[in-house]
Amino acid sequence: MFNVQDIRNDFPILSRKVNGKPLVYFDNAATSQTPQQVIDAIVDYYSNYNANIHRGVHTLSQEATDLYEQARKKIQAHFNAKFSHEIVLTSGTTHSINLVANGFSSILKKGDEIIVSALEHHSNIVPWQMLCEQTGAVLKVIPMNEDGALIMDDYDNLLSKNTKLVFVNHISNALGTINPIEYIIEKAHQVGAAVLIDGAQACPHIKPDVQALDVDFYVASAHKMCGPTGVGMLYGKEEWLNKLPPYQGGGEMIAEVTFEKTTYADLPHKFEAGTPNIAGGIVFGAAIDYMNSIGFDVIATYENDLLDYATEKLLQIEGLKIYGTSKSKTSVISFNLENIHPYDIGTILDKLGIAVRTGHHCAQPIMDFYCIPGTVRASFSFYNTKEEIDALVEGVKKAKMMLS
Ligand code: PMP
Repeated sequence: MFNVQDIRNDFPILSRKVNGKPLVYFDNAATSQTPQQVIDAIVDYYSNYNANIHRGVHTLSQEATDLYEQARKKIQAHFNAKFSHEIVLTSGTTHSINLVANGFSSILKKGDEIIVSALEHHSNIVPWQMLCEQTGAVLKVIPMNEDGALIMDDYDNLLSKNTKLVFVNHISNALGTINPIEYIIEKAHQVGAAVLIDGAQACPHIKPDVQALDVDFYVASAHKMCGPTGVGMLYGKEEWLNKLPPYQGGGEMIAEVTFEKTTYADLPHKFEAGTPNIAGGIVFGAAIDYMNSIGFDVIATYENDLLDYATEKLLQIEGLKIYGTSKSKTSVISFNLENIHPYDIGTILDKLGIAVRTGHHCAQPIMDFYCIPGTVRASFSFYNTKEEIDALVEGVKKAKMMLS
């Protein structure tokens, strides 16, 4: 039985004060908070197992290696990958996307087409632009509508035999829109294109099944799912990971090195040059265990309730506009107050102990679409409460009074 007070007790940071007020943390889409179980796993690693992995015969190194590889298996099971070597541990979503983009630089030719969406985070735009500059490939964009949903008829028209890659986020970080990725993947495969789904915003709310999706690449960051910063994952179908060249050269990723020629290690080590974030990888596994112990169905039901409650309350404030009104969305509310800069609202909310994000949320094309400089974004997690939403609503009313 889900009891939010019990859950909140797992998160030490939630009992701290900010500017003399109880912290209300609504910046979960930027990074989630860390439960004691995950903090304990970090302490346990450094207290008992700290050693470099994969190369030592000594006990500590073997134990650390076992823990690291167990974490990989946990991630494999969570995403339902067929093989654990289809999971590459990276420093996060950005690193995972760049790894794939770099790999495609040796595959794409002039005139090939890449499709992204209007809802992308900059980390799912810039690497593809760089790839286009390098290869002469052309970037095409699936447009969005006023509700913040992608226009699928236009996507159908963009697809052709020239389409080689499609990159779309599972959920938009700026608006919370859940994209129809099943449809996007199926249609891309019909023209022979590969698909990468950016799951950075989906994984805190949804448990993706990469085999059921039949997706070619799926990427995520641990720090959005109660885990540490600086670690994330790339799922790639075995055949694709075998096709892509290594991203970085160095130790760990080789089979044999001579000055004449180097051969590369098998998957996934081919993509894991150098000493990785060992503690991070192991603790990513602990974060996945924590989230699964609550259950993603329970999380989704609770967060949807928070979203409905907050949407209704905020819309009662005159002059408040919510961006991203698609029916299919997660617990993210991006909004503005008429004639007031989002930064000013965020600053007043911070004085009240309420953490929201203001600005373009690394998604400038979305802000350009709405002709605004940015929004105030409140993003809710399963450890937030309706009382905290009431505090936000009162805070926004206060900001409105002070600033208009
Ligand atoms: N894609 C999306 C949709 C995101 O929300 C983020 C993080 N804001 C990223 C990519 C980048 O993730 P990271 O900074 O962890 O690499």
